[in-house]
Amino acid sequence: MGRYDKSAAFHEDACHYLPGGVSSNFRYQTTPLCFERGEGCYLWDLDGNRYIDYVLGNGPAILGHTPTSVLEAVRSTLGKGQAFTAVHPSELALAKRLTEIIPCAEQVRFDVSGTQGDQIAMRLARAHTGRDKVVKFEGQYHGWADNILMSVHPALNEAGPHEKPMTLAESRGQAEGVLNNVITQPFNDIDVLTKTLDRHREQVAAILMEPIACNTGVIEPKAGYLEAVRALCDRHGIVLIFDEVITGFRASLGGAQALYGVTPDIAVFAKAVAAGFPMCIVAGSRQIMQGMLEGVVHGGTYNGLTSSIAACAATVKELAHDNAAVYARMIAQGQRLVRELNELGKKHALPLHAQGIGSIFCSVFTDSPPLRDYRDYKASDGAMRLRFVEELQHRGVRTTERGTWFLSSVLSDDDVTATLEAADEALRAMKT
Ligand code: PMP
Repeated sequence: MGRYDKSAAFHEDACHYLPGGVSSNFRYQTTPLCFERGEGCYLWDLDGNRYIDYVLGNGPAILGHTPTSVLEAVRSTLGKGQAFTAVHPSELALAKRLTEIIPCAEQVRFDVSGTQGDQIAMRLARAHTGRDKVVKFEGQYHGWADNILMSVHPALNEAGPHEKPMTLAESRGQAEGVLNNVITQPFNDIDVLTKTLDRHREQVAAILMEPIACNTGVIEPKAGYLEAVRALCDRHGIVLIFDEVITGFRASLGGAQALYGVTPDIAVFAKAVAAGFPMCIVAGSRQIMQGMLEGVVHGGTYNGLTSSIAACAATVKELAHDNAAVYARMIAQGQRLVRELNELGKKHALPLHAQGIGSIFCSVFTDSPPLRDYRDYKASDGAMRLRFVEELQHRGVRTTERGTWFLSSVLSDDDVTATLEAADEALRAMKT
């Protein structure tokens, strides 16, 4: 019996009925696993293997896989109806609470996914400015819609010069014309951005950015960078959109904007905000959000479902409890993992490098740390990264193949210790 036999057989069967055996292209795995159950910070696969889970559904399960308070809150809505196509009392209560939590939120709208939240954010910005182009950053992901799925993982030999990155489609079947409306920039380089905006300022509606680049490495903004981007937007009348689909409720309750003290015009929070239920919060200044009363269309049958609203409200309550003390613990655990993974790399003479903000971090293999932008990430050793993920998986630790680790509030210090022991053994195995 192999360790993954049941998952392998199941995957083969699944491939007959689901393309690739999965429901999203981002779920292709080197060893396709099928999971049967999650509880707390653990997952169990079909073969009965247990994993300490640092994927957490790609971020949402910030309270672990079975968060009692959230599940109870959702259960309490089920007997009262799910979709009213009208505002309901808990929806308004949550909206009010979010305006206290998210710095840029004078008003909010609820949606169901990060992809859709980014769509309405860009539409609002275009309507507000009367301009068409959106600036995005190489390596950043803003959902899979045609008009923004560009230059997320470009090959370095096709990506163009650092000062003038190409804007490249990520998917076959994407309409070609949409490429003209996006300008791709290197993250963390304010001089290049300043010059680009000098050339295009009359055309740029929005700068759309992950304030911490979390999709290719976990790369913090350099000191002063977000402030400088904010100042450029103010100077040129550009709408600043923070895509906080990952960092919302994770970098801090108020997102990266609260962590760094830089307030965008619009922000999109998703993933962690409802601890695993489909939910997206679009937050912004009253002036821009009012566009939705002046011809900007935002729809969605499932926006503001009673269950998702209840899940989000319970998540807020849980994370805000005791002055949001949970963040200090998650950050300390994440920082310990980062520090000790870096030490383990040295111990085994492997170029393992971990970096991030604690509640989310990445591990890559590079001879020239730290990662400062997408190209540093792309130049790191992808084969070693995947091997490390595999070796960790064999030892009951699950991380994303792109090298990102998400932490949950229910991870214990013993789990962290067990993770580091697994990493020690995984690195030893990589040497042989
Ligand atoms: N923006 C960012 C920064 C993301 O990481 C993601 C999802 N990985 C999205 C947008 C899209 O969100 P969703 O998958 O909910 O559509």
